[in-house]
Amino acid sequence: MTSLGYEYPGGETFGLLLRILRKFIIILLSSASTICHCQSTVLKNVNVIDVIQDTINWNCSIEIRDGIIHKIHKTEYIPNSKDYVLDLRDKYAIPGLIDSHTHIERSAYCQNPDRNDLLALLRHALLGGVTTIREMYSDARVVGELSRAAKLNLIASPDIFYASLFAGSKFFVDPSSDAMVLGVAKGQASWLHIINENSDIPNLVAQAKGNGSSAIKLYAFLCGEEIRAITREAHNQNLAVWAHAYTQFSKPSELIESGVDGLSHAVSLLYEFNDMPKDSKPAANDKSLSDLFVEMKTHNISFDPTIFSYVNVERARRWSGIAKSITQKAYDAGVLIIAGTDSISAYQDEILPFLHMEMEYYSRDCGFSNMDALKTATINAALSLKIDNITGSIEEQKKSKPGNIR
Ligand SMILES: [Zn+2]
Repeated sequence: MTSLGYEYPGGETFGLLLRILRKFIIILLSSASTICHCQSTVLKNVNVIDVIQDTINWNCSIEIRDGIIHKIHKTEYIPNSKDYVLDLRDKYAIPGLIDSHTHIERSAYCQNPDRNDLLALLRHALLGGVTTIREMYSDARVVGELSRAAKLNLIASPDIFYASLFAGSKFFVDPSSDAMVLGVAKGQASWLHIINENSDIPNLVAQAKGNGSSAIKLYAFLCGEEIRAITREAHNQNLAVWAHAYTQFSKPSELIESGVDGLSHAVSLLYEFNDMPKDSKPAANDKSLSDLFVEMKTHNISFDPTIFSYVNVERARRWSGIAKSITQKAYDAGVLIIAGTDSISAYQDEILPFLHMEMEYYSRDCGFSNMDALKTATINAALSLKIDNITGSIEEQKKSKPGNIR
């Protein structure tokens, strides 16, 4: 095992959070599995980052049985002679990371529909510490099969939660979605469906649930009435609703009022004012933005700002400063912020999954404490996915699979 010490290709070194993370050797991965047939696996002398108590528990021993954290010993612990023991003195353990906004197919599969490439991407994400992803826009046939395989530990992959995407007919003029529905009539796939005034919303939501989706993604060209009907029905059928913060025919405030569970993309919030910035100077009315954040906090709506998608995408880069300042305002207002990349990872071994950079932006540029930045990719994300009972923090009875990230 070696320590972390990677540089982003642009030459920008990771900041404080990653300087700390460089000492990490173990991430507690959330997929249940044992790594040997010993009685227990014991991670000895490891410093445990506790995102619940906001502290570091020094020199602990983590005892793992059958993929579950059986016991965290905070005092000297003598393992059983049959146990598999790893001495991790001077190393740290953090919870498995959750990327709350990924596009694994867009990243790999659509350009080159080779399953091995997709598996390599997922494996790379997992080895970089990403143990769960929230996949926003995919062919449910592909991602459903991968999700099952990941759950059964048949492949090296983060656990995958995914959405079915609903949008107005204008969206489907764009051929970019064609690869997601091969063999199915455009706009008629249960995972990628046109919504119009004739749509049978309960039936479409049921179809999405049937394809294994955890949520409906509200994407583009949807009016307030449609958003309210979809959100109400999704909740009736126990599905979450993840929404772009702007859907062309409805403003962020309408999405918030409809009761969606999460909003994506920081700069999209500025559509509230019908005044998208032409350059990097914020045009936002601060007071109104504050009002939105109060409502989001009150209604427990999560927010994935996806700063990575502004900083690292050429056409959006001019808005990266605005994205950061909006994220800082949301953080200051107490909104539940969850880290997402709008991508996932690169293939190159020397580059960590992009989620590490997203957290780095929070701590370096948006005023987050390092602990709070880490929470956006752990406990906050687990809470928003309602899986905090099994992952998101290092606690007894939560899932675990020790893996060296490098
Ligand atoms: Zn996206």
